[in-house]
Amino acid sequence: MHCSLRGVAGASPGTRATQAPSRSGVAGHALVPADTAARRAAPSHDDGCRAPRQAVLTAAKAKSGSSGAAASKGFGAAKAPAPGKDTCACGSKVVYRECCEPYHTGAAVPPDVEAALRARFCGFVKGRVPYLLSTFHPHYHKFKYGTEEGGAAKQLERDLETAVSRFKYSGFKVLETAPGSSPDEAFITFRYNSVAKTRNVRPTGDSFVAETNFDGSAKVSTTIERSRFLRDAASGGQWLFADYTLIDYPTWMEEAKQAELRARGEAGAAAGTSA
Ligand SMILES: [Zn+2]
Repeated sequence: MHCSLRGVAGASPGTRATQAPSRSGVAGHALVPADTAARRAAPSHDDGCRAPRQAVLTAAKAKSGSSGAAASKGFGAAKAPAPGKDTCACGSKVVYRECCEPYHTGAAVPPDVEAALRARFCGFVKGRVPYLLSTFHPHYHKFKYGTEEGGAAKQLERDLETAVSRFKYSGFKVLETAPGSSPDEAFITFRYNSVAKTRNVRPTGDSFVAETNFDGSAKVSTTIERSRFLRDAASGGQWLFADYTLIDYPTWMEEAKQAELRARGEAGAAAGTSA
């Protein structure tokens, strides 16, 4: 996720009518106010998708803090969350303080692109605007706002404030990572869900009332985004978010299917050769 304003956030009016966002479940990141039309409604499930486990994971988390995933870490895994404790919003299955919090506080730096992306997503979920601001490459300002590099800090901050206050994010899942044209460039494709806060109900306290579908279910949008990160020497070699493209959900599904068929074909061909 990135945050961008339009970008990331997700939002397309999407579609999957699901349950209302649960308090923590919501992770997502948001990025941007969503309204743009760039996103498309996703099918109502993960059917066929390569990431079907997310639904299960989310469901498991909703039930309790101890999911099978945590158990699979083995005995004594210090990171397995205690019963009742939520795992990090980035989907790592590790509790927040041992996962993304050190990045958010500045005690540590994400070691690679995926960790950088996870920390950003989690930052959106938790509303860590100052941290999020530090994760954008100066190029993003030019990409998003048409200013010179690094020239739209105020606008970016306002957009981030909007994104974290208007949306709840969840269902984060990394789909693919790919190297760029140099060792300091990398691409990462991921998916997340977002729900916008309704403008029709006056909130009480910190309550979050989601926009709903006609049947009263929360209006959940699924976004697939491909982010480009650049390793920035000026910030000590950190991977910073440079720009992104949104990927049409049905298109992604079809591409994944074709890739799987190709992989099977190659495996079959290899087997035939060796025989
Ligand atoms: Zn995390």
